Amino acid sequence: VSQSAPKLPSKILELMDGFRASKALFVASKLKIFDHLKDKGPTKAVDIANYVGASVCGTERLLDACASLGLLEKTPQGYSNTDSANTYLTSDGKYSLHGYIIHSNDHLWPLFTNLEFAVKEGSRQNHRAFGKKADDLFKDYYHRQEVKQRFMAAMHSIARLTARDVATAFDLSQFKSACDLGGCTGALAYELVQVYPNLKVTVFDLPEVIANTSYFQPSGQHTAPVTFVSGDFFKDNLPEADLYILSRVLHDWPDEKIHVLLSKISAVCKPGSALLVAETVLDEQKTHPSVAVLQSLSMTEGKQRSSSEYKQLLEKYGFTDVQIKITGNLLDAVLCFKKNLSL
Ligand code: SAM
Repeated sequence: VSQSAPKLPSKILELMDGFRASKALFVASKLKIFDHLKDKGPTKAVDIANYVGASVCGTERLLDACASLGLLEKTPQGYSNTDSANTYLTSDGKYSLHGYIIHSNDHLWPLFTNLEFAVKEGSRQNHRAFGKKADDLFKDYYHRQEVKQRFMAAMHSIARLTARDVATAFDLSQFKSACDLGGCTGALAYELVQVYPNLKVTVFDLPEVIANTSYFQPSGQHTAPVTFVSGDFFKDNLPEADLYILSRVLHDWPDEKIHVLLSKISAVCKPGSALLVAETVLDEQKTHPSVAVLQSLSMTEGKQRSSSEYKQLLEKYGFTDVQIKITGNLLDAVLCFKKNLSL
């Protein structure tokens, strides 16, 4: 009996090649090829190679790979950016992902090279990837200016892309003041004051970060309603606010640290004050969305949570009326209110 070959496992084949495709995107971004091609007509490989200071044959292969991945267009006249490369891959666009791509190449790639050890040992692999043990994820990032800038640019790029959906997931117009704890570059804060002109936002983050925020301020925007305050949210007093925000903070920390942080927020919240959490919320089976499930493989001490887990966690610290909005963007939003003591 003749047996026909099984259908090509295209999903598996695509995954087998995923690392090559990622690395092609990372290297083209690192060489700033998309910046060079911005607002330019088709350009020959030899000119691009000259500009980036790389070999012609290597550059040509990389450009063809980018064209095959749909990042560049290739015609007999040369290579040009696709619309999506112009929007997301040039380094200075409003919605540029360049910062996160460079972070992926320089930081996540070495960590993921050690994934087998991470799984076997159940721990983050900083020591293998970078030759040193990380006691605190962030101390490690902020040790060197260059690494700090890279990390902040990475956070900024995702925050810019998600801020509008997070800011409008719920109607926040009832709040007069907000404090974005671990608010980093202020990307979400600036979006909030645009959407809610009567809102004053304080960005609270570690001193190393606050010292570096001017680089990320939006040009031409009236910045008065956004203030930056430096401090450690585990140790220092938190600024007063009607609305506290934790965006991509809870997923970084183990339960003991979350206990300290949520207890502090709960203690300073007056009844009727609220907490807005922005995270990628997992489905109840915890297998989707894969962007969050795959991120867990980096093995920080924290974890991603499902809707029911966020609800349970927040209720444990005296928050009530927990509402969850799946935005369809990279970050979802969870809003809850401090329980009214008289109830
Ligand atoms: N909220 C931003 C966003 O969503 O783009 C940044 C998220 S980033 C994963 C976590 C932020 O928490 C960083 O800006 C970091 O500096 C800040 N952070 C970490 N430990 C902190 C601490 N002990 N006190 C205050 N901020 C802290």
